[in-house]
Amino acid sequence: MKTCCRCKKEKPESAYHKDRGNPGGLHYMCRDCRSEKYYEDHENNLRMTRQYYSKNVDRQIERVRNYRERHKKRAAAFVAVSSKTRTGRIKKPGICSQCGSGGIIHAHHEDYNKPLEVEWLCQKCHKKLHREKRSVA
Ligand SMILES: [Zn+2]
Ligand SMILES: [Zn+2]
Ligand SMILES: [Zn+2]
Repeated sequence: MKTCCRCKKEKPESAYHKDRGNPGGLHYMCRDCRSEKYYEDHENNLRMTRQYYSKNVDRQIERVRNYRERHKKRAAAFVAVSSKTRTGRIKKPGICSQCGSGGIIHAHHEDYNKPLEVEWLCQKCHKKLHREKRSVA
């Protein structure tokens, strides 16, 4: 006779699976407990997989939403700046505010929630800034 570790009942050795890794050559749980536990583990695994999956889907939706939101804000910010520069309310400088070189000057937004706070940068500095930003994020 051997006491099962799980249900604490004493059962004949025939009620246990053989397990060479254990002293006595028998599994520490009886057959009933073993199959019950197997079933429970299986259920737990399923539940966890489902949870993981649904969390991932949420994250994906969130990411798409953020992306759209950013795009909308960026577009709105550009429209705001270009209309202000056209009417002369914002003066577009001829040179880059970082390196001082001329040429094509971009309006860079640090924060699209503040569409009128722009930094004027040449193409090179602008690209560089966004590259650095991406590597930080
Ligand atoms: Zn048992
Ligand atoms: Zn520059
Ligand atoms: Zn920019």
